[in-house]
Amino acid sequence: MRAARPPEDARAAARPGDDGPAGATPLVELRGVSRRFGERPDGWLERGLRRLGLAQQPPAVTHAVDGVDLAVRPGEVVGLVGESGCGKSTLGRIAAGLLPPSDGEVLVDGRPLDALGPRERLAARLKVQMVFQDPFGSLNPRLRVARIVGEAARLHGLADAAGEDDYVCAQLERAGLDPSLRHRYPHQFSGGQRQRIGIARALAVQPAMLVCDEAVAALDVSIQAQILNLFMDLRDQLGLAYLFISHDLGVIEHLCDRVVVMYLGRVVESAPVDALFAGPRHPYTRALLQEIPRIATRRAHFTPIRGEIPSPLAPPPGCHFHPRCPHAMPRCRTEAPVLRGVAPQHASACHLDDGGALP
Ligand code: SF4
Repeated sequence: MRAARPPEDARAAARPGDDGPAGATPLVELRGVSRRFGERPDGWLERGLRRLGLAQQPPAVTHAVDGVDLAVRPGEVVGLVGESGCGKSTLGRIAAGLLPPSDGEVLVDGRPLDALGPRERLAARLKVQMVFQDPFGSLNPRLRVARIVGEAARLHGLADAAGEDDYVCAQLERAGLDPSLRHRYPHQFSGGQRQRIGIARALAVQPAMLVCDEAVAALDVSIQAQILNLFMDLRDQLGLAYLFISHDLGVIEHLCDRVVVMYLGRVVESAPVDALFAGPRHPYTRALLQEIPRIATRRAHFTPIRGEIPSPLAPPPGCHFHPRCPHAMPRCRTEAPVLRGVAPQHASACHLDDGGALP
C-alpha cells in the first residue's frame, strides 16, 4: 500500500522554507514532483478480468520521488544528498528534462514546461544540462571528440559549419582540455579527461545550470579536486548554477550554498550549507553527518544508521524514516511529517519539530 503523503496545501506552505535565498526567480523549480516507475494505466477490461481471477495482479510500482519541491536560483549551488536509492538521481534527471514527472510541475525561469510551445520548451531544456557519473559510458565511443562536443551546438544553431571547429576548441579550452586532441576518440583519454569532454559537451549548448550526478565519484581523489575546481571556475566565469548530486558530504560541504537531504523519495531537510552542518534538525540528517570521518575529532568508531533503507516498492507509511529512527513515536507510523520552516531558509520534516527543539 502506498504511504500517506502530506496534503498539497501543506506542501505548498512548506515551500518558503525550502526555497533558498530570496530574490531572483528560480532558474529551475520543481513543484510537488513525483515519479513512479512500473505504473500502467488500468483499463476497465483488465480490472474486470482481474476481479474474475482471469488476469494477473498489476506489477509493483516503484515510488522513486514523492511530492518534492525544489528551487535552484541563478548562480546557486544546491547539493542533493541521501543514501543510494533515495531518488536523488531520478530527481536530477527530472530537473534536467530527461525524465517527465508522473505528477507535479517543472518550471524553467518561472514558466511551466507544459505551457510552452515546442521551440520555447527546447530552449528551456537546453538551459539545463547534465554531467554524468560515468565519463566513458556517457560518451559515444565511435565519435571523435570534435563531433561529440560540436554536434548539439550545430544542431541548435549555436555554431555554423564554418565556425564549428573554433567553437569546439573554445569549449574544450573552457573545460581545461587541449583542443589539439579533439580528433581523438574517447577511449584515448583518461577518466578525468573524459569527464572534461562531458563538461565541454554540456557547455557547448550554453546552459545556465548543470546537474552533476555523482560527477566526480568515479575519479581519483587528485582528479576529483581538479574537476571540482573547474566547476567553481565555470560558476565564476559563466554564472552557472548547479544541482550537485553526491553521497560525499565532504564535497557537498566544500562546494554548495544550500543542501537538500532526501530520504526514500522525499525531502526531509533543506538549509544553507553552514546551518545544516552546524545544526542539523532532522534525525536522518544527524545520523548521516555522524558518519563523516573528521580528522579534527579523530573518532575511532562511527555510528552507522541502523537498518537498511526500505524498498521504494513499499515505502513505510507515515514518516518513511520511522523504522530506523531512534526518536520514533506512535504518530510517526501513520502521519507523514510536513516539511516546515524551523529557521530562516531552514526547513525540516519531523514531528519532533512540532514541539520545539529536538532532544
Ligand atoms: Fe523520527 Fe518521527 Fe521525526 Fe520521522 S517524524 S524523523 S520517525 S521523530
